[in-house]
Amino acid sequence: MRLFNTLTRKKEEFKPLKKGLVRIYVCGPTVYWFQHIGNLRSYIFSDTLRRVLEYNGLKVKEIMNVTDVGHLTSDADEGEDKMEKAAAKEHKKASDIANYYWKIFRQDFKKLNIAEPDKWTKATEHIKDQVDMVKILEKKGYTYKTSDGIYFDTSKLKDYGKLAMLKAGDLKPGASGASILAIGEKKNITDFALWKFSEKPGKRQQEWKSPWGIGFPGWHIECSAMSSKYLGKQFDIHTGGEDHIPVHHTNEIAQSEAAFGKKPWVKYWLHGAFLVSKGKKVSKSKGGLFTITELEEEGYTALDFRYLCLLTHYRKNLDFSLDALDAAKAAYRSLKNKIQTIDIKARGSDGKNYLEQFESAINDDMNMPKAIQVLQSLIPDNRISGRARLSVIKKVDTVFGLDLLKKDKVAVPADVKKLVAKREKARKNKDWAEADKLRDKVNKLGYIINDTEKGPKLRPK
Ligand code: AMP
Ligand code: ZN
Repeated sequence: MRLFNTLTRKKEEFKPLKKGLVRIYVCGPTVYWFQHIGNLRSYIFSDTLRRVLEYNGLKVKEIMNVTDVGHLTSDADEGEDKMEKAAAKEHKKASDIANYYWKIFRQDFKKLNIAEPDKWTKATEHIKDQVDMVKILEKKGYTYKTSDGIYFDTSKLKDYGKLAMLKAGDLKPGASGASILAIGEKKNITDFALWKFSEKPGKRQQEWKSPWGIGFPGWHIECSAMSSKYLGKQFDIHTGGEDHIPVHHTNEIAQSEAAFGKKPWVKYWLHGAFLVSKGKKVSKSKGGLFTITELEEEGYTALDFRYLCLLTHYRKNLDFSLDALDAAKAAYRSLKNKIQTIDIKARGSDGKNYLEQFESAINDDMNMPKAIQVLQSLIPDNRISGRARLSVIKKVDTVFGLDLLKKDKVAVPADVKKLVAKREKARKNKDWAEADKLRDKVNKLGYIINDTEKGPKLRPK
């Protein structure tokens, strides 16, 4: 199986560090607001990765963090803490906000058939681990103090910025939009906070004591501290959205390799491209993208959206529009309907060659658009026996996660339900003529009534 590694910018043969076991860390949500469909595209990508690894017989241990402190509005060291800002705006406790949005996030996972990680790790529940890691960095001489926190000195690492392929001269104060002010008391523009001091202790909702003063952890340190706690000081795969390459993941690598002395800290870095709307990047903070619940209100299901995501390779931007979602919904539902018409008794050969094509697609850096094409060709191919087609569909759906063999429940319209209830009444009154009349009416509306011991059951004609 080959995967594109951001570290080398190449597709590489995947080999886990420990035989048979893949340790993955997925950069999770910052839980100050609903996750939009852009965020969720990222998790459909990491879920697909997990499914492909499992399809290949590997055991997966996956950790996902929940950022509930320290992520500032700038993604770097300036701005407000997103959680504190939301708590002030909603007049709530930061922990209640975190728990609320995390709950919704997990409901979305369920609707999207995204498997939950083996463990969720919350930043606020791992303060000691983060402080301990900063202590190690301090002891090794990588840190310095400013008036607003403890910083990591990036000039101490020769290969700082290797993930983003940054060269030492690339980032200067004033370059790439960074203002001179952004450097403040920092020694280098790329230095980042490991621990931030509370401006006025007692004013923030979330702050803790530390050897350096009351404050809170920088955003990057949580991922290094929590991943090493549960996955070890070196592990296989780290995923996230591609926006994290230049700052967040670059800094995670710097502090982890400095603290643990293992290189590379993570063997394979995988990044998902963005879901964009009208060519523009859309983020949660800027607003503007649907949530899953909003899509449902528009008449789509979460799996219509999952199908749409599978039609674009994870390393390409997905240009989102409701037209594109309409097309995906129609194609997905038609695929499911065609599967329902496959006759299990139809004779023919086995579907081995389709399975091989499918496997070569998913093992080539998760080429899901190609894998979907294989499925589309298989369904109507009556040279393959009905039983073999259905068994291949069952197997490939362990990777697609599209409930391909599940019959959709059809919602019975209210007028039909009313007629059925009326007919039941007529039957109780032994008014058989009226009951038959009502049955015909229901029939005309496209439903067949089947009287069972448990009462009338409806099925579409
Ligand atoms: P956040 O909750 O902001 O920390 O983001 C959660 C995940 O969603 C991160 O891995 C981001 O890189 C990713 N992400 C944010 N916006 C988008 C988008 N428009 N398309 C795809 N992924 C995104
Ligand atoms: Zn992270």
